[in-house]
Amino acid sequence: MTADGIDVMLLSVGADLPYFCGYEAMPLERLTMLVVPRDGEATLVVPGLEAPRVAERANVFTIRSWGETENPIGIVADIAGPVGLAAIGDHTWSGFLVDLMTAMPSANFCRASTVTSPIRSVKDAHEIERLRVAGAAVDRIAARLQAGEVPLVGRTEAEVSAELSRQILDEGHHRVNFAIVAAGANAASPHHEAGGRVIRQGESVLCDFGGTMVGSDGVGYCSDITRCVSIGEPTGEFADLYEVLMAAQQASVDAATIGTPCEEVDRAGRSLIADAGYGEYFVHRTGHGIGVEAHEDPYIVEGNSTALVEGHAFSIEPGIYIPDRWGARLEDIVVAASGGADPMNVAAHGLAVVDA
Ligand code: ZN
Ligand code: ZN
Ligand code: ZN
Repeated sequence: MTADGIDVMLLSVGADLPYFCGYEAMPLERLTMLVVPRDGEATLVVPGLEAPRVAERANVFTIRSWGETENPIGIVADIAGPVGLAAIGDHTWSGFLVDLMTAMPSANFCRASTVTSPIRSVKDAHEIERLRVAGAAVDRIAARLQAGEVPLVGRTEAEVSAELSRQILDEGHHRVNFAIVAAGANAASPHHEAGGRVIRQGESVLCDFGGTMVGSDGVGYCSDITRCVSIGEPTGEFADLYEVLMAAQQASVDAATIGTPCEEVDRAGRSLIADAGYGEYFVHRTGHGIGVEAHEDPYIVEGNSTALVEGHAFSIEPGIYIPDRWGARLEDIVVAASGGADPMNVAAHGLAVVDA
C-alpha cells in the first residue's frame, strides 16, 4: 500500500476478504467491508445479523457491526477518514462503490488486486498442501470416471454433471464450482453447459470439474481438473488429436520452471498444437492461477511476461476444439517449485476407453 500510495484498502465480497481475515461475506445488499488503513488497525464493518458468523481475530481486525437503520457507507467513510487513494476489492458491488465515491469525495479509487493479487498468487507450503488435498479429491473422481465407474451411455450430460457434483461434495469439498460434461460435438464448446443431450456409445466425453474445500480457518482452496474419456474405441483421427493434446500439455508442464515467463509456458504447448495443424482450434489461454479463487493470477497467456516464482499455482489446460465434430482438453493444476512443476493432479493423462 505504501509503495502504491494507497491510504486505505476496502475489501468486500470476493476472495480477498476470507484470504486476509478468514470471513467470507454473503453477497448481500447489506454491506460487509474490511477497512484496512495503511497505518493503523483493520476494522470489519459487518451487518449486525451477520456478526455472529464472524470468527473474532482480535490480532487481525476489530468488528464494527451496524444496525438495520444505520448507514454502513457513512460508517466506512468515517473509519477511513480523509483519503487520497482508496483501493477497493475488485468484486465489490458497483452500487457500493458509487455510494462510497459520494461519501468519500476526496478519494480516487483503484483496484485492490494491485495489492492483494501479488500476495495471493504466491502460495506458501500450507496453501500448497491445501491445493494438493483438493487436487487429490478430484483425482479420485477422475479415476472413477476413467475406470468406467461413472455411468455415461443413456444418461444426459446434466445427469452426469449432477453425479460429478455430488462426488465433489462427497470428497470433502464445501462447494461445487463447476462440473462441465460435454459429449460428442458439444465438447467443441470449451465451457459447454451440461444439458439434456443423451450420451451415446462411440462418443468422447469431456469432463471439467472442481470445487472449493474450506479449512478450519474459514479459507477455502479450489480444485480444477479436466479429463476426457472415449466410450468404446476412439476413431484414429480423434486418438491422433488426443496424442497431440497430451504432448502439448506435457510440454507446457515441462516448461513451467521457476523464472520462466508465463507466456513461454503457453507457447511451449501451443507450438506443438500448431505444428500438428490444430493451431486455430486452440482458442483459449493455456491456464489460470488458482487458490481461494478458481481463476486468479497468474494467467498463462501470451502477453503475460510475469516470471514464475516458487509457489505460483496455476492450471495447464490446452484444448483442441473442432466445431460440429468434437473437442478435447487436458487439465492439471501445478505449482512452480525448484524441481520443476509440482503436480496437484496425478490422474492418468491418456484418453481412457470405457464401455460405460
Ligand atoms: Zn475454463
Ligand atoms: Zn477446469
Ligand atoms: Zn481451469
